[in-house]
Amino acid sequence: MSKRDYYDVLGVAKNASVDEIKKAYRKLAIKYHPDKNPNDKAAEDKFKEAAEAYEVLSNPEKKQRYDQFGHAGVGGAAGGGGFSGGSMNMEDIFSQFGDIFGGGSPFESFFGGGGRQSGGRRVAKGSNLRIKVKLTLEEIAHGVEKKIKVNKQIVCKTCDGTGAKDRSSVSTCKTCGGSGSVRKVTNTILGQMQTTATCPTCHGSGQQITAKCNVCHGEGTVRGEETISINIPAGVSEGMQLSMSGKGNAAPNGGIPGDLIILIEELPHETLKRDGNNIIYDLHVSFIDAVLGTSVEVPTIDGRAKIKVEPGTQSGKLLRLKGKGIPEVNSYHRGDEIIHVNIWTPKALNTEERALLEKLKDSPNFKPQPGKNDKSFFEKMKEYFE
Ligand SMILES: [Zn+2]
Ligand SMILES: [Zn+2]
Repeated sequence: MSKRDYYDVLGVAKNASVDEIKKAYRKLAIKYHPDKNPNDKAAEDKFKEAAEAYEVLSNPEKKQRYDQFGHAGVGGAAGGGGFSGGSMNMEDIFSQFGDIFGGGSPFESFFGGGGRQSGGRRVAKGSNLRIKVKLTLEEIAHGVEKKIKVNKQIVCKTCDGTGAKDRSSVSTCKTCGGSGSVRKVTNTILGQMQTTATCPTCHGSGQQITAKCNVCHGEGTVRGEETISINIPAGVSEGMQLSMSGKGNAAPNGGIPGDLIILIEELPHETLKRDGNNIIYDLHVSFIDAVLGTSVEVPTIDGRAKIKVEPGTQSGKLLRLKGKGIPEVNSYHRGDEIIHVNIWTPKALNTEERALLEKLKDSPNFKPQPGKNDKSFFEKMKEYFE
């Protein structure tokens, strides 16, 4: 498969500035990030393609070579004859991110670039951590700060994450001289090419440890507990994911920690039901109260509220408590509480009750007489959804 033009991949002009190139890449990197597109091969390919284009176009030397020779000039051509480093692996891409998203992590270049002794150091990234947080309807309505004990990889306190027994047991890697990468000269169809690869001795850290920390055995991290305080905004819903960067697993050898991904779960409420940003409550009143009218207390997410049931209220009437619903995330708009009035029909009667009702049975006012003002179920639902 032939490669797409790098300028096309990033959607920038040939004379685009460094800033424009960076901006375009950042956009694509966010859009096709694997965390956002799990198990999506097409997105992963796009993600890699964009990273590769950025890797070349952001480097003046490589950009010039690409402008002059195309993909062959930067080792991307098919059949490069033993040339290594044609496309990037995920680790390379993530190590680039310090440069793109801030944090100042240097990224590794495929070509030595000359004289950049410390530029090739690879920064390890800790893995992301996923947790579930169960929330009550009240917590969702008002937002909540949750302190959660998380079991994860934390930085080893004994060695401060270095993995070394003490200061004297850390030395500069002899293989790479501390740069974290080694150069290789390869013969290609374009002549001799110099490429860099991660140092096999220190795996890119640039350091060698002669005596390992005996708590973490040289890893720099240990299994531990951390209490993390999570601010959950009002209005979240079941299945929503929040992410806290840097709160995931610690990385070995002082790298960048992963992210904490928080999955929201809703706990069912005893009496209230959620429907989008509205709250639904089923109210049952006696048939006598519906006839004579009454005042009742109903539960809301802000405590109890008094509502009036007008004399002559029909079964199925919907009453609305404005603003007593769930707020939208990051907005001032709040849903309502909808009260569905059910008229309770007695299931068993004693002799006295039966006699009283029998007396009323043929009274003209007790015969159903639906009129203009008694809305159909359809009309009421329409009103509610508006
Ligand atoms: Zn090394
Ligand atoms: Zn340690």
